[in-house]
This record gives sequence, structure tokens and C-alpha cells, in this order.
Amino acid sequence: MPNLLILGALNWPVGLILLVASISIPNTSYADWLSDEQAIMGTAVRVELWHEDETAGRAAIDAVMRDMYRIDRLMSTYKEDSELSRVNREAATRPVAMSRELFDLISRSLEVSEITEGAFDITYASVGHLYNFRRKTRPSDEILEKALPAIDYRHVLLNKENHSIKFKRQGVRIDLGGIAKGHAVDRAITLLQARGITQAIVSAGGDSRIIGDRRGRPWMIGVRDPRREKEMAAILPLSDTAVSTSGDYERYFELDGVRYHHIISPASGRPVTGIRSVTVVGQDSTTVDALSTSVFVMGVEKGLSLIESLPDVEAVIIDAAGRMHYSSGLLRRQSP
Ligand code: AMP
Ligand code: MG
Repeated sequence: MPNLLILGALNWPVGLILLVASISIPNTSYADWLSDEQAIMGTAVRVELWHEDETAGRAAIDAVMRDMYRIDRLMSTYKEDSELSRVNREAATRPVAMSRELFDLISRSLEVSEITEGAFDITYASVGHLYNFRRKTRPSDEILEKALPAIDYRHVLLNKENHSIKFKRQGVRIDLGGIAKGHAVDRAITLLQARGITQAIVSAGGDSRIIGDRRGRPWMIGVRDPRREKEMAAILPLSDTAVSTSGDYERYFELDGVRYHHIISPASGRPVTGIRSVTVVGQDSTTVDALSTSVFVMGVEKGLSLIESLPDVEAVIIDAAGRMHYSSGLLRRQSP
């Protein structure tokens, strides 16, 4: 099988394979595994867990779904009454006080901007909002160039004393699309663990986190082929791990032969070229979510050297020619 990388375990039944990149999970549930899937945060949210008591298991799943809706109401830029939308409307004019949760996630985003030398930048949205993937429209060169100076994470000023935010100039907008799903998945896992659950997987789009394993075996996590929806480019056997895939196929339109997708280079205000997907595995979803988006922007060489410099994270990159690149920890684990 060309292009199929199986790490560690070669003899897993295909029925146990879970596709994470634009996730699609086959209905292979055992009687004692409970699951639910709902459309939240513009993506498919799925929870699957093992619980001896079905009522308690169902209640845990419902609690996770409710929390996902809550985070969406807090952080969506599509909802005018979200806290984040209010920040975007007002923070160029005056400091805006925020909830602790939003403040902390924005702080975290700015830290990621620092370690990625600005590749990860939530102010990408200053230009990013000018692309409309549903209507298939993009900004003219003139409008893009005018908006571009507003992209710079250093325009975002946070005040730790009162959890307020201020933008240094007009035109700045922020969007947490590159990190919020990871945050939501981490929250979900915390909620499940507080209820004593030790075996579960929670996914929101391309972001998944696993606690425990699946009946004594790892979950088989498939990395989607970026150009063939139903096929896999790699399979990762994982337990107690977080995994995130960023792909140019998740939200995009084509115009005059150019693919306009949702991951924007902060330097140019245009969709990043050179990479089709990045998958990062690590300890928690917030980190790997931010890193998959970051590595996508940084490119194969810089992206992999960032991954090598950080503890407990590994990456698989599929470049524009369909070639696969792995960080050294995955190469070591790869089957001969
Ligand atoms: P992901 O699927 O996690 O890679 O996130 C992609 C989302 O991240 C996009 O839909 C945008 O909301 C956001 N995004 C795009 N470009 C950037 C960037 N350069 N830095 C941070 N977030 C970005
Ligand atoms: Mg991400």
C-alpha cells in the first residue's frame, strides 16, 4: 500500500480505524461504549466513552456537549453577541474586560506567536475576515494591502490586573479558530476525568484527545489523504494522547485555479502555500491545535525544527507534492 504508514502495529482490523482529519468515525461501538456526535463550533463534535453505568455515561456526554456550546457562545466570531465579537468591536477604542477563560486563551495564543516568530497570529483575522468561504469571495489586492498592517500579535495588549484587552490600532481583529477547538477538547477531557471516566475520546473537527485506550489496545488514528477524502495517508496507534490536524481541504474554495483556504500567512494576508496538511501529536489539545496551525504556516523545514525543539510533540507533514515528512520521534517508532 503506497503512502500508508502504519506505526507500531501492523495487524489492526480496519474497523477500528478512526479518521481524525475532518473526522469520520465508523460505527464500531461496542455495547459498553457510549457515543454522540453533534454539529458545534462549525464542526463535528464527537464524544465516545466507556462507562459501566449507561445513565452516568450519557450524563457525562451531555455535560461535554453543553460545555462545547458554551465555548462557542463565548468565542465564536460568527455570533455577534459572543464575548469575542464584543472585543473585536470595542478593543481598538477602549480596554475591554473579559472572562478569565477568554483572557487565558488569548494569552496562550500570544505565547505561541512568540515561539513561532509570528507564524501563529490570532490577528490574522484583520485580513482573514475578508475571505468568505461560503460565498467564495476574497479581498482585492488593494483592500488586502490596506488591511495587512493590522496583522501583528504585538497590537494586542493584555492587562493581567483586570483581565482586559486593548488593540493598539484600528482595524485589528482576532479569531481563535486555530486554537479554540483544542481548548474545548481539553475542557471536555477535564470534565470527563472529574466524573471518574478513564477511557474516552473527544473530537472536534481535526482535534482529538484520548484518555486511556480502547479495551486494552490503542486507538488507530488515521491521517486523511488531503486530496482523497476517504483515504488515509498514515495511521497512528495512540492512547493517552492529543492529536490535531490542520488541512488546506477543511475550508476552501477555488477561483481561477487557485485554492483559497483558511490558513493565512500573517506576512502576506494570503493562504499559505507549500503544505496540504500537518498533524501534531502531544500531551494536550490546546498545544497541538495551535502547533498544527503554526507548523502549517512555517513550512516543512522551519516547522519540523520547531517541533524538534519542543518536548513531547511529534508531527507528520504532507507537502504540496504529496510527500510526507516526519519528526524524528515518529521515524523512530515507524515499523520497518
Ligand atoms: P486549524 O484547523 O486548527 O489549523 O485552524 C485553522 C483556523 O485557524 C482557521 O480557520 C482560522 O480561524 C485560524 N487561522 C488561520 N490562519 C492563522 C494563523 N496564521 N494564526 C492563527 N490562526 C490562524
Ligand atoms: Mg489548529
